[in-house]
Amino acid sequence: MVSDTQTQTGTSPSEKKEINGTNGQLDLEASHVLHNSLISIPPTVVSAEGSYVTFGTGRRVLDGCTGAAVAIIGHGNPEVLAAVQEQMSKVSYTHTVAFTTPVAEALANEILQGNPHGLSRAFFVSSGSEAMDSALKLARQYYVEIGQPQRTRLVSRQRAYHGNTVGALSVSSHVSRRAPFLDALVLNNVSYVSATYAYRGQLEGESEEEYSARLVQELDEQFQSVGPETVIAFVAEPVGGATAGCITAPKGYYQGVRRLCDRYGILLILDEVMCGSGRTGTYFAFEQEGPGVYPDLLTMGKGLGGGYAPMGAVLAHEKVIRGLQSGSSYFVHSHTYQAHAVGCAAALAVQKVLRRDGLVARCAAKGRWFEAALNATIGQRKYVGNIRGRGLFWGIEFVQNRATKEPFPPALRFTWKLVDEAFRRHLSIYPGAGTADGFKGDHVILAPPYNASDDEFEDLVRLLNEAYDAVETEVDLALVEGKRDGE
Ligand SMILES: *Cc1c(COP(=O)(O)O)cnc(C)c1O
Repeated sequence: MVSDTQTQTGTSPSEKKEINGTNGQLDLEASHVLHNSLISIPPTVVSAEGSYVTFGTGRRVLDGCTGAAVAIIGHGNPEVLAAVQEQMSKVSYTHTVAFTTPVAEALANEILQGNPHGLSRAFFVSSGSEAMDSALKLARQYYVEIGQPQRTRLVSRQRAYHGNTVGALSVSSHVSRRAPFLDALVLNNVSYVSATYAYRGQLEGESEEEYSARLVQELDEQFQSVGPETVIAFVAEPVGGATAGCITAPKGYYQGVRRLCDRYGILLILDEVMCGSGRTGTYFAFEQEGPGVYPDLLTMGKGLGGGYAPMGAVLAHEKVIRGLQSGSSYFVHSHTYQAHAVGCAAALAVQKVLRRDGLVARCAAKGRWFEAALNATIGQRKYVGNIRGRGLFWGIEFVQNRATKEPFPPALRFTWKLVDEAFRRHLSIYPGAGTADGFKGDHVILAPPYNASDDEFEDLVRLLNEAYDAVETEVDLALVEGKRDGE
């Protein structure tokens, strides 16, 4: 995923030259691709294998974030390659609105065998955003079918990211990704409550339980202020991804949310596009939120295809399916590439590797090591404000003052400095800015493959610390100079 005005690696044009030299780097004038940046071309990737990505310059980089938390079993897996080849030799494309394929059925069975948590049907699409739009439409149609068409509103959270299509962006609160489209391509029937962001949201002296209760109370008040009978759904990421960097909910939060949704008949849509598919150490991220927590609709994406094919999915609870069955029995929504056979084959192969190799358990176990390693090293440094996450999904938030939690001025570009220094050391990490309030704040996300080797994990932690040290030195100097200039 590309983050706002910067490329994945966050390099500015002048820095890029230094990183790539001229060898292997495309000339801006020679590209007809509309890259997100119109003034620079991102480094060219020519191959990837296991936990490493190789660039046109020959540079081999440890993939500490699997792109955008995507390549959960690493790159170039031969079993996925074989499955995709075999599927292509049978059938690549059929219009899945009219027909089905054995591989789409097999993928749905793989994920939903035994109806986990009451989830009974999967709707396969080609991205997380499509999955979110599909979930919003399925939720709305559910209420139309069961005779509650007055439900037209959605409630989401601050610091949420649910995708970039019009529907998905409308329930997102990523400030910079929304800004140009406000008043034109963003729905206005969405209201917001606070994120579960303990580092900045939990009050001094407030216990985790009290914080959790206060957030649930806020949601209740929000429902009441818009009229709970007008609300279609509450939308949330169990572990927040791109916007604030792996923020987790306080204990009891989702149980409280589930009770409120039940009380008012509001659907709960959990977006696990980034945190799902085992990333947090359980197959579904919400499984760590306590007994009784389940979604009416759940979205998947990034880890579903593991980067081998563009895939997304909505998993629907049997209650929603029954609602449609009591009415028209027809979901008024489809895509040309819905349940694409090759995409399903890739995703199925990824899920099989995950299960056979016990990679979700490995993710949980290695995650505990990773958390301890981060806290013991970079966690001790003066510009590190908070480390949070679960499994192999960790966010590190940077501040200029640990006591006051004051963020760096955005002009300092702390995140980009760190991402660049990491890249220089052959490590790729995922950037994030605007963490604190949508404008100020810096964080990075670490999301390595679940099957990275122990040595690769050690390298990741070491390279990250070395990159941080370089930035700390540079920033100390910049702050001293800034002070001098200010006097
Ligand atoms: C990435 C993401 C999306 C959007 O998925 P795309 O595949 O980029 O369309 C939606 N929700 C969350 C939580 C995400 O991280």
